[in-house]
Amino acid sequence: MHKNFIDGVWCEGQTVRENLSPSDLTDRVGLYAQADAQDTRNAIEAAAAAQPLWSAGGSQRRAEALDLIGQEILARREELGRLLAREEGKVLAEAIAEVGRAGHIFKFFAGEALRVSGEHIESVRPGIDVDVLRQPVGVVGIITPWNFPIAIPAWKIAPALAYGNAVVFKPADLVPGSAWALAEIISRAGLPPGTFNLVMGRGSVIGEALAESTQVRAISFTGSTATGQRLMRTAGQRFAKLQLEMGGKNPLVVLADANLEQAVECAVQGAYFSTGQRCTASSRFIVEKAIHGHFVEAVSERLAGLRVGHALQVDSQIGPVADMSQLSQNLDYVDIGQREGAVLVQGGQALTRDTEGYYMSPALFTDTQSNMRIAQEEIFGPVACVIAVDDYEHALEIANDTPFGLSAGICTTSLKHATHYKRHVQSGMVMVNTPTAGVDYHVPFGGTKASSHGSREQGRHAIEFFTSVKTAYTQA
Ligand code: ADP
Repeated sequence: MHKNFIDGVWCEGQTVRENLSPSDLTDRVGLYAQADAQDTRNAIEAAAAAQPLWSAGGSQRRAEALDLIGQEILARREELGRLLAREEGKVLAEAIAEVGRAGHIFKFFAGEALRVSGEHIESVRPGIDVDVLRQPVGVVGIITPWNFPIAIPAWKIAPALAYGNAVVFKPADLVPGSAWALAEIISRAGLPPGTFNLVMGRGSVIGEALAESTQVRAISFTGSTATGQRLMRTAGQRFAKLQLEMGGKNPLVVLADANLEQAVECAVQGAYFSTGQRCTASSRFIVEKAIHGHFVEAVSERLAGLRVGHALQVDSQIGPVADMSQLSQNLDYVDIGQREGAVLVQGGQALTRDTEGYYMSPALFTDTQSNMRIAQEEIFGPVACVIAVDDYEHALEIANDTPFGLSAGICTTSLKHATHYKRHVQSGMVMVNTPTAGVDYHVPFGGTKASSHGSREQGRHAIEFFTSVKTAYTQA
């Protein structure tokens, strides 16, 4: 049984949750303790007591702890990757890469812990010095989704700790295994008890308790738009600092002058790898009419040849969907698309394999209009649609015709159009001749419009969220 970690002690929960593999429902990954609101309040109290010690302990100590955590994650990447693939369903190679990313993030922020700087500015008044200082925010609540069970926790926890904050971490209920393994590594890194706490359990219980506590000064969240809005109402109402990463409906524009092979690869990788369960996944292919037929034919052919199977089987290219409700939602959208008049040219069926799991074939729609539900709503599965457009200007207009703005791609050999798109597409990240999903770990991550709220995650920009600024005036 895997326990919660509160105030430096492994604690039983109130109930227990079974973690099952979506590749094989007879494969039980483990049993995980479920905390309640009181456990969460205890964790918050412990964090509040520990944070000043952690902060005062100095940057060298923080850098060494983070480096140690990063090193262990990297050394165990095969084993942790297997665990991740088993519980979440992405294929082994992707899972190992995700674990590697988590390790690198800790090592990156180990360095950043040593680079916290302020500003010294001459006052407009003689005899006074002005210093702009960065200080820890205090206790930070971290709430993460199931689709990147170790990388997303890492990219929130590492900067939170690097800049001297204490953490109460609530991972996704569906995949607590990788989060627990990460917490176990952190528990041995020599942090003062209470600096880092793990509380596993229901979002409506643990998440709400974090949102309501006035001791939690900041919450970094990744998940659905609906939960992000709820956090705005609860935690936002009491003026907690919020960093919310939510949905996407990411466009990939393919112009007639694109290298077709490259465009097809961007489309297939961006939309369908990781079973389409990435907030940066492409879900709208916006294709110039002149290349439309060739593009659809080539993507359909690639999809038909993809091997959908058990996440741990070496020849699988696409794993199962993460759970039953996600699979039903994907299949519902396949129906909705057909009822709306789009044409299903490939996939979209539930599949059976040797083991019982949540398998489906990657789906492609054509004849899609931008206002259809399948072209507007986040599906979060291996389902994408093609919208035909007349020219570049039309493509840009359709690319921006969504409430979201996370990632946007374009495949073209035109420097003019690529440059214009980079400037004018409404998104936080823009990709030229490379998939919309798959980003570096050391640069800012985030979106515009309904995709994100608050300052950027990752890279040096993470300091904005995980510190607060104090302006100090001194007269000699
Ligand atoms: P998804 O599961 O689709 O990624 P959710 O928004 O449901 O998106 O979940 C993301 C994270 O938010 C999970 O850890 C979940 O448990 C948590 N969560 C769910 N409901 C709430 C809530 N009311 N308050 C805070 N966190 C919540």
